[in-house]
Amino acid sequence: MASGTIHIVGAGLAGLSAAITCLDSGRAIVVHELARHAGGRCRSYFEPALGLKIDNGNHLLLSANDNALSFLRTIGSESRLAGPDEAEFAFVDLASDERWVFHPNEGLIPWWIFAKDRRVPGTGPLDYLAMTRLLFPGKDERMDKIIECSGAVYERLSRPIFLAALNTEPREASAVLAGAILRKTLARGGRACHPLIASEGLGFAFIDPALAYLERRGAKICFMHQLRGVYVAAGNAALLDFGDDKIELDPSDSVVLAVPAAVARILLGDIDTPSTFRAIVNAHFKMEPPRSFPRLLGIVNGTAEWLFAYPDRISATISAADRFVETPREELAQAIWKDVAKVTGTNGEMPPWHIVKERRATFAALPEENAKRPGAETQFANLFLAGDWTATGLPATIEGAILSGKTAANAMLAKQRRGLNGSGARGQSL
Ligand SMILES: Cc1cc2nc3c(=O)[nH]c(=O)nc-3n(C[C@H](O)[C@H](O)[C@H](O)COP(=O)(O)OP(=O)(O)OC[C@H]3O[C@@H](n4cnc5c(N)ncnc54)[C@H](O)[C@@H]3O)c2cc1C
Repeated sequence: MASGTIHIVGAGLAGLSAAITCLDSGRAIVVHELARHAGGRCRSYFEPALGLKIDNGNHLLLSANDNALSFLRTIGSESRLAGPDEAEFAFVDLASDERWVFHPNEGLIPWWIFAKDRRVPGTGPLDYLAMTRLLFPGKDERMDKIIECSGAVYERLSRPIFLAALNTEPREASAVLAGAILRKTLARGGRACHPLIASEGLGFAFIDPALAYLERRGAKICFMHQLRGVYVAAGNAALLDFGDDKIELDPSDSVVLAVPAAVARILLGDIDTPSTFRAIVNAHFKMEPPRSFPRLLGIVNGTAEWLFAYPDRISATISAADRFVETPREELAQAIWKDVAKVTGTNGEMPPWHIVKERRATFAALPEENAKRPGAETQFANLFLAGDWTATGLPATIEGAILSGKTAANAMLAKQRRGLNGSGARGQSL
């Protein structure tokens, strides 16, 4: 085994991805996680109020998510994502009761804009041209400085899609991040836009197989092991303080901090990180969806924006949901249920329900917050950063988190190959 231990702090997707990237280095790998479980903001758990295993939030992936799919291939669980063989997104407008399926064609030439049954009702082919202005936005600005944030294409397509991907009201969101999404997805044709859902749960698709794979390959995972301080000396991380347990770092050891932005700032002091966040609210209703109900349904002019249909429940997502964080849960459940009952054609009482409010679900994808994202390398030679909030060029998503872990691990391994790791001398606390 090559010398030097790699300590990865945080067993969310960024940390798990960093650990998996390091497996072939031949070095010992230890993952330290504060909680009793892995997955961070992407996890499944048993919810007694429903008597069901649910996810902390509905997560949508697209076939464009190359890093996420390659992660799943590596751990052997790519087949645990399900979705249609084409780019199909069913929508309903609750104000007009119209229903449609947005259905871009597979190839690069977007002839779907000329097909009435594939594009958004109430729009013509030329209405879509404005979106191309987002492809190369130049300097980062609010989206409403680049495109008109009104009209049918915006209200019925761009807004729901960018709101879900950026978790920020699109008109104020970063045009650079919106452009990155567009270049990775629609600009590559429908084949990059197939929706993918972990229909048996995020834990089953992402977390359990990643942990099993890491353990099979000899990595050690320590749960309930909270990093409380990092001591530095001579420009290197020299000691990791886990309370009762303190780990002195050898000159050949390295650290990847894959914790949330706020934790990294506490641990490292003077790094710049995003500091404004947005909430996501999910409502879960225990019911069998009607037989022909789509797996994913976009709602325009409703309380929630997306419904996800699972065999035992319908779950609704509200992004950028800060306005609902203080709303009593029963009131929120009733408002969302009204829409769910309408689109499913259900009469009668609200079934057993559960509301999950993730107050700091992601950083706010505003231009000024995007500008604060640090790269993987830090001022400390042997310490690297990962997390969906680092400078991945993508919004805070599964794809971004997995890419960040890979980037941090590769930067660390490259530095070590060049013999630039730290000296390991000990010093004062940060
Ligand atoms: C409700 C919701 C819905 C979402 N929907 C989507 C979606 O549809 N599509 C999509 O792609 N993305 C979605 N996301 C975003 C996605 O979940 C995140 O981008 C991703 O999970 C972030 O992973 P991460 O590893 O960067 O961070 P985290 O998951 O936050 O992982 C950080 C880990 O560090 C641990 N930790 C913290 N402090 C310490 C410490 N001191 N010592 C040790 N460990 C510590 C934490 O316990 C955690 O396990 C959603 C997020 C939420 C919350």
